[in-house]
Amino acid sequence: MATRKSPRRKPTPKPCPDCRTGQTSESFQVGGRRKRISDDRQEALCLTCLGSGEAPTN
Ligand SMILES: [Zn+2]
Repeated sequence: MATRKSPRRKPTPKPCPDCRTGQTSESFQVGGRRKRISDDRQEALCLTCLGSGEAPTN
């Protein structure tokens, strides 16, 4: 017999705590001691959710 997965409950993804849309737009420092903070916000892929915008289930 095949195991059935109950279709009732949908896995509700939790929103990523580090971002909202899967991308982090922050001006971060580049380099160790040198503080090079650019005025432009750099959008980067969120490493927490890998751009999915959902908290990693782990
Ligand atoms: Zn994220």
